[in-house]
Amino acid sequence: MDLQLNGKVVLISGGGKGIGSGISLSLAREGAIPIILSRSAITEEFKKNIEAITTNYEFIQIDLNETEKIQGIVDDVAKRYGGIYGVVNNAGANDNKALETTSWQEFEKSLHGNLTHYYELVHATVKYLKASKGSILNISSKTALTGQGKTSAYAAAKGAILGLTREWAAALIKDGVRSNAIVVSECWTPLYANWIKTFDDPEARKKVITDKIPFEHRFTTVDEIGDTAVFVLSPKSSHTTGQWIFVDGGYVHLDRALD
Ligand code: NAP
Repeated sequence: MDLQLNGKVVLISGGGKGIGSGISLSLAREGAIPIILSRSAITEEFKKNIEAITTNYEFIQIDLNETEKIQGIVDDVAKRYGGIYGVVNNAGANDNKALETTSWQEFEKSLHGNLTHYYELVHATVKYLKASKGSILNISSKTALTGQGKTSAYAAAKGAILGLTREWAAALIKDGVRSNAIVVSECWTPLYANWIKTFDDPEARKKVITDKIPFEHRFTTVDEIGDTAVFVLSPKSSHTTGQWIFVDGGYVHLDRALD
């Protein structure tokens, strides 16, 4: 199927690593032009992987916590490429700001790092999305719906992202711009690998987690998120908007008694 993404410019926050890298590579395979906005330089491995597909991509180094820099970058990209088709809001991290030990100041700081740049990237791009009848994709987390027990700020940010997905779908309904979210549960990424190392017995912990993932008892891969992302972003997904799409092996919705 031709997803009709050829030559379309898509911004991806955190697009050089983990889930974002899976999305950037899937977009590149479909002939889209990934514009990666991220904090750390892209790795040689990622560079090799994407350049095996295309040289028509760009990496722009930015700490998205510096929200005021986003509009200028977006305008510059739109000017140089003649427009923008898509935005993928993906950058973020579970920072475990627990209810009993987190001040409201730390809570707000965490929201800034996980939520505010999602808003600003779309706010800065919306006029270009309207011109291209483009598409927004927000990456959220199961914690928005299930909680996790020690991560108030992250759960609040990821819940707000689901709310914004619906709000933007409604706000842009007459403009032909779609807005959807992918909800991730347990996806193997560099962030995840670092987190699992914090347990005394990481392998045992991995088994506890994968045993609870109904479909094939394994982690979701970044390619699986990437491949769903390109379809949802693409014009071929033309009547899907305001949706939360779970790419999680059934983790959030299926019967806990399944083995
Ligand atoms: P990852 O491996 O750490 O990749 C995230 C990328 O985003 C990194 O390149 C990171 O840069 C970048 N980034 C983070 N904050 C940034 C900022 N303020 N400015 C610029 N770049 C920033 O993480 P991941 O596991 O792929 O997670 C991606 C998204 O999926 C996040 O929103 C996360 O909450 C969500 N998610 C993941 C899982 C999972 O199981 N992995 C589950 C639920 C939701 P640095 O390399 O500099 O840190």
